[in-house]
Amino acid sequence: MRKYTPLLSIVLLLSVSFLYSIYYGISHSNNKQYTGLKYVESSRRIPIGDEMLMTDEKEFENYEKEYKKLLSQKFTLNQIKAIEEIIISNSSEFDTGDGESTIGLCYTTHHNSGKSVSTILIASKNHRHLRTLLHECCHALYFDNRKLFDSKYKDRWESLDYQFVSNYATTNIKEDFAETGAAYLSGEEYGKECVEKIKLFKEFYNETR
Ligand SMILES: [Zn+2]
Repeated sequence: MRKYTPLLSIVLLLSVSFLYSIYYGISHSNNKQYTGLKYVESSRRIPIGDEMLMTDEKEFENYEKEYKKLLSQKFTLNQIKAIEEIIISNSSEFDTGDGESTIGLCYTTHHNSGKSVSTILIASKNHRHLRTLLHECCHALYFDNRKLFDSKYKDRWESLDYQFVSNYATTNIKEDFAETGAAYLSGEEYGKECVEKIKLFKEFYNETR
């Protein structure tokens, strides 16, 4: 047994350094993804008027904190890697007072390399703004995994074309995906008739984690 010891130590040493390089590689790339996401007041990618800028620094920080927390609870770094910026805006003039109208936008660019980059605008301060953030993040998730969706999920999704979590979901397949995702991730109640579509979203969500 003793004569094998040097060989065993070399093998052990090699496997430890190999494991370390895998770990280093993963944590390194995750860090890169995470720091890629910026919270901003304005952006050239989605130009907004001065009247929409969030000028109160403290208020901006509070929203940023809330958004960071929600994203870390609901998405893995891989799922939000294509989101480059989240614009936190001042939306009081867009609130109709009923607490229901929300303004959100997801602007996505596709590169030839297959990579996509998204900028999200959240311009709602009513009680539904966090749901709007989830809706827009689901747009980014969909665009970043478009190939996977089209090849494996699209047909099944379209076969459930009678299950909609909201009126807005009937607009088109992209809005349906974002609405279904927001309904699932926010934990809100949805009709029993939507169970299969929610399940399908969950399958896609788990595959992209
Ligand atoms: Zn949408």
